[in-house]
Amino acid sequence: MTSKPLLTFQKMRRANTAATTDFVVAQISELIARGDLKPGDRLPPERDLATRIGISRPSLRAGLRSLIAMGILRARQGSGTYIAEGPPALDSEPLRMLAALHGFTYANMFEARRVIEQSVASMAAERATPEQLTTLAEELAEMYASLGDPQQYLIHDIRFHRAIGAASGNPILATLVEMVSGVMYERRRTTIGRAHDFTESLEKHREIYRAIRARRPEKARLAMQEHLTLAERAYDTEVERYGAESSNRGTNEKKRN
Ligand SMILES: [Zn+2]
Repeated sequence: MTSKPLLTFQKMRRANTAATTDFVVAQISELIARGDLKPGDRLPPERDLATRIGISRPSLRAGLRSLIAMGILRARQGSGTYIAEGPPALDSEPLRMLAALHGFTYANMFEARRVIEQSVASMAAERATPEQLTTLAEELAEMYASLGDPQQYLIHDIRFHRAIGAASGNPILATLVEMVSGVMYERRRTTIGRAHDFTESLEKHREIYRAIRARRPEKARLAMQEHLTLAERAYDTEVERYGAESSNRGTNEKKRN
């Protein structure tokens, strides 16, 4: 978290809102490309930055928001804006908006998950580090501890899948898993409250974990496929059982299918 006195920003000459947003994005991207800004670095305070770029603070904020949505920056409450660290992660917001706009169905999402996550699981079986295996085991333990609490269970379920994404060793695939699971989470948490028994789901996650730990790619792929097929069925049941009363979204999806 060093302060960065050497950062050089160009001053913007003429301003309209769209142009200022692009300008801020271009400036920050260039500083990153040059290596002047690195993961974990804090940006100068907003007032300072706005003056140096020669734009208003609202315009600056619009640019920063856009970089946050791209996963380049992270805002920390009360402490400023930082260059994102850790595994690359796109904010799920763009995908969420596309989902709303184009009416992605749940079936679309499960299909995409199967395509991505089956491969990711088999790669994780070949490449997971001991630390990544530990993370998976911890999430599994948390799922077990949350059997009576659907919301908590869902959070650890998603984290388990993201950890497999990371363990694939491919940051692009890991990012896709992050993004899709973010949208899944937003939708599922509205229906999960009425869910049933998670014992079978937990058992499937255990199978996936064991196959990855045992370095058995094909088994991991198959276990993931079975898990996602069962999860899709479980979601259908949640929507069918309670759909009319509280999940218009789910009902619409059914019509579109
Ligand atoms: Zn799962």
